[in-house]
Amino acid sequence: MTKKIAILPGDGIGPEIAEQAARVLGALGLDLEMKTAPVGGAAYDQHGHPLPPSTLKLAQESDAILFGAVGDWKYDSLERALRPEQAILGLRKALGLFANFRPAILYPQLANASSLKPEIVSGLDILIVRELTGDIYFGQPRGVREVADGPFKGERQGFDTMHYAESEVRRIAHVAFQAAAKRKGRLCSVDKANVLETSQFWRDIMIDVAKEYPNVELSHMYVDNAAMQLVRDPKAFDVVVTGNLFGDILSDEAAMLTGSIGMLPSASLNASNQGLYEPSHGSAPDIAGQDKANPLAMILSTAMMLRYSLDLPEQALRIEAAVQKVLEQGLRTPDIHEAGSELVGTTQMGGAVLKALA
Ligand code: NAD
Repeated sequence: MTKKIAILPGDGIGPEIAEQAARVLGALGLDLEMKTAPVGGAAYDQHGHPLPPSTLKLAQESDAILFGAVGDWKYDSLERALRPEQAILGLRKALGLFANFRPAILYPQLANASSLKPEIVSGLDILIVRELTGDIYFGQPRGVREVADGPFKGERQGFDTMHYAESEVRRIAHVAFQAAAKRKGRLCSVDKANVLETSQFWRDIMIDVAKEYPNVELSHMYVDNAAMQLVRDPKAFDVVVTGNLFGDILSDEAAMLTGSIGMLPSASLNASNQGLYEPSHGSAPDIAGQDKANPLAMILSTAMMLRYSLDLPEQALRIEAAVQKVLEQGLRTPDIHEAGSELVGTTQMGGAVLKALA
């Protein structure tokens, strides 16, 4: 059956890297229908909104969405609802994308790209599962109010609300336990249960769900300690599950363990495995249009798409093996370039992956 893929290139380097990813997908010989639509600043320029109804409709009708990146400084003065980044939040909400998968893998060929010692990071392969639709980022009430009493009486006060409903914690717990069961069978739940009620509740639910996964070993860690352990001994982790706020920070920290953000894919899934696949980096306006962007995170995002939304794991492995091969050949975009390797541009890197596939 034909699988429908929506390609939303976005802004900055988005179109350049999405083009390479589409070439790679097209070369697999699969029955795919790929349609492209504008998103982010590009969509604002064309339709006056970062997520126009036509783009949202295409995304909703697709099995998976390949998303480049959005954002540019030139949109910074727009009202918040019209800024490019709102497109991502809109898609997450409309499609119910609650589970964010961020793998951090250090390819042996790039061990020197990390700022940590090679022996600490070489062979690193961790997966951060972040809850994406709840927590303090969306909790109500929020805003700025006048303090009614106490030491700050009469002053203005900014406030947000952290909360998680039981069903929200249960569904992300199941996703994380299932991911851990397919890997090394170790799941670390990160929270701040020593201080936050929401975190204690989160921990209690994790312990309850663990009863359904006897083959997965569950551990707990406070977020401050997790931030330390990720740089002290990152290979001790297999799968990490955490809430929206902590996951936002820890997934970026884990990304940097690998040295280049240009290598890291990500996936955001809903309950029916429909997913949005995007590189972990942004639109990099500083290098846009210069054939300098590393397309590998975007290409590896298509591998995640084949694995999680299209149920074609062997095709995902084909792409991952092709990426390994070009790294072994010594090809490097500027972000991962080092003495002795061959400097290539975006298009040449995409072409090399295509060749390695064949
Ligand atoms: P960024 O990730 O775009 O760039 C950070 C640095 O990494 C830059 O020096 C950039 O050149 C480099 N970089 C990023 N991707 C690269 C790649 N594939 N190859 C080589 N180098 C790469 O983050 P930023 O500069 O903080 O943000 C730029 C814009 O992107 C902003 O408008 C921001 O809002 C947006 N943004 C979008 C997303 C998204 O679309 N999901 C995520 C983060 C930031």
